[in-house]
Amino acid sequence: MSDYTSTALADDAQAPTTLPPQQLWIGGRWRDARGGATYVTENPVTQEAICEIADATAEDVDDAVRAAQHAFDHSGWKELGGAERGRILFRAADLIEAETNYLSAVETLEVGKLYKDGVFGDIPAILATLRYYAGYADKLHGSTVQLPDYAGRHRLNYTLREPLGVVGAIIPWNNPIVMAGWKAGPALAAGNTIVIKPPEDAALSVLRLAEILAEAGVPDGVFNVVPGRGETAGAALAQHPGLAKLTFTGSPEVGALMPTHAGGQFRKVTLELGGKNPQIVYPDANLDGAMPFIAVANFLHQGQVCAAGTRVYVHASLVDEVTQRLVAHAEAITLGDPFDANVGMGPVINGSQHQRIGTYLDLGVEQGASLVTGGKLVDRPGYFVEPTVFIGSQDQRIAREEIFGPVATVIPFSDSDDVIGLANDSHYGLNAIIYTEDLHRAQVAARDLRVGNVWINAFGMPDMTTPWGGRGGSGVGRELGPAGIEAYTEEKTVQMMF
Ligand code: NAD
Repeated sequence: MSDYTSTALADDAQAPTTLPPQQLWIGGRWRDARGGATYVTENPVTQEAICEIADATAEDVDDAVRAAQHAFDHSGWKELGGAERGRILFRAADLIEAETNYLSAVETLEVGKLYKDGVFGDIPAILATLRYYAGYADKLHGSTVQLPDYAGRHRLNYTLREPLGVVGAIIPWNNPIVMAGWKAGPALAAGNTIVIKPPEDAALSVLRLAEILAEAGVPDGVFNVVPGRGETAGAALAQHPGLAKLTFTGSPEVGALMPTHAGGQFRKVTLELGGKNPQIVYPDANLDGAMPFIAVANFLHQGQVCAAGTRVYVHASLVDEVTQRLVAHAEAITLGDPFDANVGMGPVINGSQHQRIGTYLDLGVEQGASLVTGGKLVDRPGYFVEPTVFIGSQDQRIAREEIFGPVATVIPFSDSDDVIGLANDSHYGLNAIIYTEDLHRAQVAARDLRVGNVWINAFGMPDMTTPWGGRGGSGVGRELGPAGIEAYTEEKTVQMMF
């Protein structure tokens, strides 16, 4: 989680002033998209252009996959040994750390993320992930099984843990460098090569990451970046027959388009999708401890967090107090320039998301929810949304659909035995957050919630040591932890007699 108490931001907490056009990174060099197509990204605070970005075509994506396959076969990356790959990734982490300010600044510029959240949240998160998997690289191995003799001969089975080949990775805009690290860290540590399609709105940090990895010693072609549009570059990567694994993080709507085994495309697929995550405040909750988490889980990064806890089930005895305290938190948030350390909320990502959130704010009122604070798009340049709290009910769309904006819905409940059923009554299943001082109740809830991750009296960034992922509409497979690197390997069995 971000260190909200620290004001030790660097003096250079400001936007870079000029940014040159950005190209594709394929085979260890910069180049234009074929045909020279580009698109222009927009600053969500000022609505001014940031820079031109090369718009990869399907042919460019094919070039990148071929470069990655060539590197897998001939660069020596997979033969280097885990310890040496780890050393290179440790070096990359040090270089990233030295560029904390630049990498945070470009994400603030493109995404509207608070600069302090980048410095104290996102960059430490990618550093932790890269270092975790750098340390894991020389601890990946198979196992040995001694079998009884057969026909007078000894038998031994052993397994080899091998990299897969070329990984295609498609990532969203809300935490681009963190998402790139979640995928590249374990994929590279295990000896794979990778092609990343960064989000249209926020490619700059991932493009710089490519140069940093090269400076650290990652061979040409092992890490490739193809910025471009989802329907063209993203679709071409997802469908490319040269991938040994496809890993996608984004919305369930786009996740549903990812080819899994259709058309004979047999490869590993991981899908990290959205969430409409429940927070459950039991009658015995310690509200002084819980309230900061309840608020952050709704308003962190303008609510544009897959783990956001925007369905807030509150026991009837606490509804007034929790709502008042949540409203007080929302009303204390200053909207404005995300580079300003005193600002608590920047804009949402772009015009279409701004409008979409506005539609949900109207829908909440139309469907009978009580608007307690906020409820409007802010009438000023930039894509700002008022932090909003509704009191609503289970059947309303604001309580069922992922809004990806700063919109909390408090849902009262009266029977603590029924609330798990309400929480599980969702297409999604990413995470849940529960607040109680009763250890038994906490354990039963953690067992019965149909999600991939449960926080008890806490909320924050997923931790790189333990698996992260969803159930149902929130995805397939796991990232992070040991499972996160094993998912980039295959275990081969060797059986011998001697
Ligand atoms: P999105 O699905 O619109 O886009 C994600 C990526 O897919 C982008 O790079 C986009 O260009 C690409 N894409 C779009 N259309 C495509 C197509 N037809 N074929 C292939 N690729 C295509 O999502 P978004 O708006 O960038 O991100 C927000 C979503 O991501 C939310 O639902 C959020 O919950 C989810 N998310 C999930 C996690 C997680 O860990 N589960 C983490 C972060 C974000």
